[in-house]
Amino acid sequence: MSGKNDEPAKSEPFNGTYSPKPILPLKRSRLAGDDTNPSFGTPLQTRVASPCTLNPPIDNDGLSWPSRGARSRIEQTQEEANGREMRIASAVKTILTELGEDVDREGLLETPERYARAMLYFTKGYEDNIRDVIKRAVFEENHDEMVIVRDIEIYSLCEHHLVPFFGKAHIAYIPNKRVLGLSKLARLAEMYARRFQVQERLTKQIAMALGEILKPRGVAVVIEATHMCMVSRGVQKTGSSTTTSCMLGCFRDQQKTREEFLTLLGRH
Ligand SMILES: [Zn+2]
Repeated sequence: MSGKNDEPAKSEPFNGTYSPKPILPLKRSRLAGDDTNPSFGTPLQTRVASPCTLNPPIDNDGLSWPSRGARSRIEQTQEEANGREMRIASAVKTILTELGEDVDREGLLETPERYARAMLYFTKGYEDNIRDVIKRAVFEENHDEMVIVRDIEIYSLCEHHLVPFFGKAHIAYIPNKRVLGLSKLARLAEMYARRFQVQERLTKQIAMALGEILKPRGVAVVIEATHMCMVSRGVQKTGSSTTTSCMLGCFRDQQKTREEFLTLLGRH
């Protein structure tokens, strides 16, 4: 990796000691207020306006772009949870009936409830709290080379058709004194994938959240995914996939950094 040579002088040389210190609790002020690296504008400053960029990546209570009903899901009692599942199931019965099905035939008997639970699972990412997701995995570390995790499997739901899209996410960043436990990158991708999504927004949200958590020199996220709404409806040929990317900070500003990333992904 040649990331070191591409970059301007670092603010601090590596002092030769390795002492990861967990940073907790993750406070809003720490995430948002004290950007010590002017080369990494916050995503809020570098992206055009959209629902993503108009709202901060992480709310005061740790939720990240929660849906309107996310907090009521989080705070619900068991009884309320049961009621919610029942209402979804009853709506599914309506759908099945309207599709001409007999909801009383054996194969479908418990399908509405099963579907309700499945949908709650597929959208559980709205309820995730970013502090729980990253836990004690933000470390002070003088590593300043590109970190890449490739081939993170993602399963999400297209919000236009409510059918799955799935594929691989590749996440890279160049640290600025903070690194995140590697498994947490996958966890972060999962948090945003388990929602109703469009692939472009999913890509952007992962990048922006990572930017907010680490204040790194740059973040890059590439997602390659297959959309059931495309491949199973004959709009496009089977096997077609969609690639989206989001580059922030030095990945956006410096062609060399971007190229190094794409080379390491094997697409250059
Ligand atoms: Zn779709």
